[in-house]
Amino acid sequence: MANPKSKILVSACLYGFCCRYDGKSNLLKDKLFMALKNSGRLVPVCAEELGGLSTPRIPSEIKNGKVISKEGKDVTSQFELGAQKALEIAKKNNVRVAILKEGSPSCGSKRINDGSFTGTKISGEGVLARKLIENGIPVFNENEIHLALVLANGDPNHHHH
Ligand code: SF4
Repeated sequence: MANPKSKILVSACLYGFCCRYDGKSNLLKDKLFMALKNSGRLVPVCAEELGGLSTPRIPSEIKNGKVISKEGKDVTSQFELGAQKALEIAKKNNVRVAILKEGSPSCGSKRINDGSFTGTKISGEGVLARKLIENGIPVFNENEIHLALVLANGDPNHHHH
């Protein structure tokens, strides 16, 4: 049976929380996103804060499968813990899809920085995005909200024509 009210996991910084490494938000003013927000369907999470990292914090990038801060500290375990906690929140809320901030070492789903801290992007997934996908929760970015909604609103057992 269709469940048009399924919840959607979102990056807390898109929702408007100031949880970015630099203490700012990525507040998304897209009309569709605002409507979803008002409907109460969005479940905001920041994997990096859930993993115990402070805000503001030293930025990190993924290099050779590890997450390394700009000061050279290995923060892989914090990122993994945060992703695991976010997954548990997703499951508890029966979310069907996630809308996450593109480019982040946690939330990026198509592009991430290459680990050189030069702003160079490569194709790849952040730690949370990968965790969700591995657990059957598709991840879309802030430019793909309409695509996320097709899945979030659709009947999982039927194709509509
Ligand atoms: Fe936003 Fe995700 Fe980074 Fe948190 S981890 S600040 S939610 S992009």
